[in-house]
Amino acid sequence: MDDFKRDGSHLASCPPVEKWDDWVEYDPQAWPKRVTRHYQLIPTICFNCESACGLLAYIDKETGKVAKFEGNPKHPASRGRLCAKGPATINQIHDPDRILYPMKRTGPRGGGQWTRVSWDEVLETFGARIRKAFQEGRGEEVMYHVGRPGHDFIMDRTLQAWGIDGHNSHTNVCSSSARLGYMLWHYADRPSPDHANARFILLLSAHLESGHYFNPHAQRIIDGKMAGAKLAVMDPRLSNTASMADYWMPTYPGTEAAVLLAMAMVILKENRFNAEFVKRWTNWEDLEMDGFKAKGQSFEAVIAALKRHYAGFTPEFAERESGIKSDVIVKIAREIADAGTRFASHLWRGSASGNLGGWQSARALTLLHVLTGSVGTKGGHNLNAWNKFVPRPFAVPPPQKRWNELLYPLEWPLCNHEMSFLLPHFLKENRGRIAAYFTRVFNPVWTYPDGFSWIEMLRDEEKVGLHAALTPTWSETALFADYVLPMGFSSERHDLMSQETHSGRWIGFRQPVLRVLQERHGERFDFTYQANPGEVWEEDEFWINLSWAIDPDGSMGIRQWFESPYRAGKKITVDEYYGWIFENSVPGLPDAAKKEGLTPLQYMRKYGAFEVATDVYKLNETPLSTADLAGSKIEPNGLLTKEGKAVGLMVDGRAVVGYNTPSRKLEIFSKTMADWKWPEFTLPEYYRSHIHRSAQTVSMGKAEEDFDRLHMPVVHWPKDAHGDVYTLLPIFRLPNLIHTRSGNAKSLYEISHKNPLWVNPDDAGKLGNVRTGDLLKVHTEIGFFVLHAWVTEGLTPGVVACSHHLGRWRVNKDEQVERLSSAWVDLKEVGKGQWKMRQIGGVEPYQSPDPDTKRVWWSEAGVHQNLTFPVHPDPVSGMHCWHQMVRVERARPDDRYGDIFVDTNLSFAVYQRWKALARPAPGPGGLRRPLWIPRVVRPEETAYYVKG
Ligand code: SF4
Repeated sequence: MDDFKRDGSHLASCPPVEKWDDWVEYDPQAWPKRVTRHYQLIPTICFNCESACGLLAYIDKETGKVAKFEGNPKHPASRGRLCAKGPATINQIHDPDRILYPMKRTGPRGGGQWTRVSWDEVLETFGARIRKAFQEGRGEEVMYHVGRPGHDFIMDRTLQAWGIDGHNSHTNVCSSSARLGYMLWHYADRPSPDHANARFILLLSAHLESGHYFNPHAQRIIDGKMAGAKLAVMDPRLSNTASMADYWMPTYPGTEAAVLLAMAMVILKENRFNAEFVKRWTNWEDLEMDGFKAKGQSFEAVIAALKRHYAGFTPEFAERESGIKSDVIVKIAREIADAGTRFASHLWRGSASGNLGGWQSARALTLLHVLTGSVGTKGGHNLNAWNKFVPRPFAVPPPQKRWNELLYPLEWPLCNHEMSFLLPHFLKENRGRIAAYFTRVFNPVWTYPDGFSWIEMLRDEEKVGLHAALTPTWSETALFADYVLPMGFSSERHDLMSQETHSGRWIGFRQPVLRVLQERHGERFDFTYQANPGEVWEEDEFWINLSWAIDPDGSMGIRQWFESPYRAGKKITVDEYYGWIFENSVPGLPDAAKKEGLTPLQYMRKYGAFEVATDVYKLNETPLSTADLAGSKIEPNGLLTKEGKAVGLMVDGRAVVGYNTPSRKLEIFSKTMADWKWPEFTLPEYYRSHIHRSAQTVSMGKAEEDFDRLHMPVVHWPKDAHGDVYTLLPIFRLPNLIHTRSGNAKSLYEISHKNPLWVNPDDAGKLGNVRTGDLLKVHTEIGFFVLHAWVTEGLTPGVVACSHHLGRWRVNKDEQVERLSSAWVDLKEVGKGQWKMRQIGGVEPYQSPDPDTKRVWWSEAGVHQNLTFPVHPDPVSGMHCWHQMVRVERARPDDRYGDIFVDTNLSFAVYQRWKALARPAPGPGGLRRPLWIPRVVRPEETAYYVKG
């Protein structure tokens, strides 16, 4: 405060580290009086999306409470900046409706009646149940199902220490389709674009405003733009990102790969591709297509064959498919060619997650990088594994010997992640049961499609024996749990995080700031919950203690993995777990700490993040070490193998690691696809999605047509579904909300609390001059939902859209619910599998310790559209294809805002129709799945073979 200068030269965007122990500010509440307050600033990591930005907790020295969160300037990815959701952490930790103690249900599942229990009871109950399952050889009946992990490796380690194949995740409703497309090229299933150094940036969907790695990427996209890069956005919706772009391409949904391949064809035809790169780094010699075989042919002959293969992808064809003008397609293709090795892009959800075959969008997009030679380059497309840093802990258990077919069933051998959204249908088909089920920061009843099938599964105690919801907030899924276990928000737990945000490599350390503060003042805690509000646990301690409860005497071989590396036979503490990692597994950290006279753990507690490397490019050119080369041999095609497995390749006379694919090159030709029964998809291709305009025609009963090679299922409408057919885009994000985690954050819900149906004015006219605010009824294949219209030109005609971040609901009016973000509903099963929901009340002011809850002025909580969606598993990637055809009509007199009806008998029938598209394992050699492609928590190799 003493440095105040009238010219403002004392101002800084973030407090400097040397002032973090005693940061002084005026109290904004006391203004205009100038009352100073003293804060201790302690870093942690945001948990409100996957980006893992650095937070600084401002702890008021007088009250001992966190007063606010701002950005940590020492964090290499977020650099002191946050989006709206980061500072809103303060709303979450002070939320008057949050869960503070472990709760056990007292009535029937879903009845909403709870009583407080002790953590000891929780650990004993689950420890005994799991021990029995393991002793009886029923390990696959124990399942951990995660929404947002928020940590790296610790759960994989825990499940492998238990010896089970029990990791389930949300990824197949999120990103697995794009991941498959990327993985087929280079093994890495995510890109790491170097936006800051790019000359041209192409985004499929809204990454600048709300996409994956949102704030760190958004900063660097703007850095790139400030340095002269052009930005193009392909998105049917005029997102905030599209509004900032140089080019907006509102493609008809599902046609993106046609546009990308037309751009690739422009670059090929005009001979503007990087021939040297393509020749050196792709497996062009393996190409086989249209009767042409590359073996023994010249590179030039192969390029000519490729041009013939893609000749149909003219700009005019792409215009007919997508609606984007052919001259725009050509112009952008030429600008991408001009950018050359400085072309960056990103695709995560959007077209990949919405469409049957959406994974081809990622493949077609990567083809543009390969043609421009912008893979691994400054300003180009890097691989996530190059930039994400996951250090190893003190001991790593061996991989499990089992394969759980509830996670990776035979029908989808190439699925990128677990087929988690089909679990209720698998259990309905009697493929197994679950003895102990953990849902963790995860709300499948609300987040997944077909939520009523989840309710039917969760309320059935024969199918799901014991269910614990590990969650910081009440949720629609917690309602159907046996135990609700409160877990900490970002400032109440330990985690290690790293993401591929830019061309560097870093780790961030999430930590419980009140515990850290009090320990700095000499207090000691056995457990973090002793310093947290109520009895909010942190998960690391939960899993350590549960593992000891499962194997109290160590006889099952589990406990050993949770014993201290420093104190033989004693239970490991979180300080020891992370301290060991920082001392031994993070290059450069011990030296950096030593320079400041700190231990590595103290360093991370002080700064909250560490930069491991900068300027990481072209790691495919890393030379093989002498140890790697020992015992290897060079195959005729230059591949280096060891014991039959590829370990690298020879490039220009040098032995390098290459990419982690079977050819160790970028695979323009995927033999894997041919070997696993998809010979038509060995190259990047475009085929028409299930919501293509031609499919709409058929769904209206106007024409019969064979939809390409996949023979996609024709929609069967419920008999009372009326109105014209539109394509629904249901998966765009509102920038300030994230699924359930942002629930009850008052400042976020004050900004966003409506999810109306976006309707183009042309369509509004066709629907009978619909105006903004009118009620519309949207019919899906399994039911309907009723919501308000928002008439806007920011959307392609023929398409309607609704954000998936609203529509929270509660069955209790006031108790054990989130009142700031949910509607109070009447939920009824009116016939077998027939569910009706009607809103009784919306959001309204209420009395609580937070005076702001009396000032709530909004009343809507949105409409829960996902409940009315059937499952659509892509036959190749396994991804749920979110886009769908719907019929839209004006609401009828007896329809009310928020009404929902669903028939789960119909949803099971849709599941069967989509399942029939799959081409099941076994593949070559009796494999369940190709050995080379990644799998979450990978079992040992013997488990990959179908027995018998
Ligand atoms: S982008 Fe926003 S929500 Fe995500 S980690 Fe960063 S601050 Fe938190």
